[in-house]
Amino acid sequence: MVKLIAGNWKMHGTAADLPEVRAIAARASQLAGQVEVALCVPATLIHRAAEAVPGFTIGAQDIHHRPKGAHTGDVCAAMLHDAGASMAIVGHSERREAHSEADADVKAKAEAGLAAGLKIILCVGESLDVREGGEAVATVAAQVDASLPAGPVDPALFSLAYEPIWAIGTGKVAGPAEIGEMHAAIRERLVAAYGEPGGQVRILYGGSVKADNAAAIFAVPDVGGALVGGASLSAADFLPIVEAAL
Ligand code: PEP
Repeated sequence: MVKLIAGNWKMHGTAADLPEVRAIAARASQLAGQVEVALCVPATLIHRAAEAVPGFTIGAQDIHHRPKGAHTGDVCAAMLHDAGASMAIVGHSERREAHSEADADVKAKAEAGLAAGLKIILCVGESLDVREGGEAVATVAAQVDASLPAGPVDPALFSLAYEPIWAIGTGKVAGPAEIGEMHAAIRERLVAAYGEPGGQVRILYGGSVKADNAAAIFAVPDVGGALVGGASLSAADFLPIVEAAL
């Protein structure tokens, strides 16, 4: 499976930023088959972005787990799909923290997205306290076990992102040994949950991935790509990361 490089625009981006989407999509289409590229933009931009770059993967950053109902301000998977999204992130640590999303919520969101035909990137990761307490692997493994959608899963449609919270937006990057150890532990849980297809699910790394550290991160065994925040906002910053995955 080729590497997946997905941008998470978080709460950034309006119509004025569509030229960046176009520039990223144009290079991605030249690299089709060698690397998979996606941009997860704010919900308000999904429709315009998807119309601007047909065939390129535009994603959402969250999903409400129910198909419809009295959920003011929320957006369900079918609505995201209808707007033009073909992917969604679920369980990002910023949502787990700010919106008190528990593993069971994340699991339900992943299942709702997959049922609606969206590709899913499910995020897990430990806090600095947990890492310093020596509990990082056990904590993330438990998060994985409790957050995974019920199988079977298609590895082309479902990915996991290991994002140490202390590395997100901080400029600190987990070292190769930390990433390798965690990805191996996550792989074990994926195989336990899904059998052989669990061996094919891509495990992305996320946390301050930039042009100057991407190649070293991609060289770590079982890194299947990256989830990129700040450095995905412009083609100039993001495309060198994409190229490093070739
Ligand atoms: C993220 O938002 O998932 C992320 C990894 O952000 P950054 O690349 O800015 O650390």
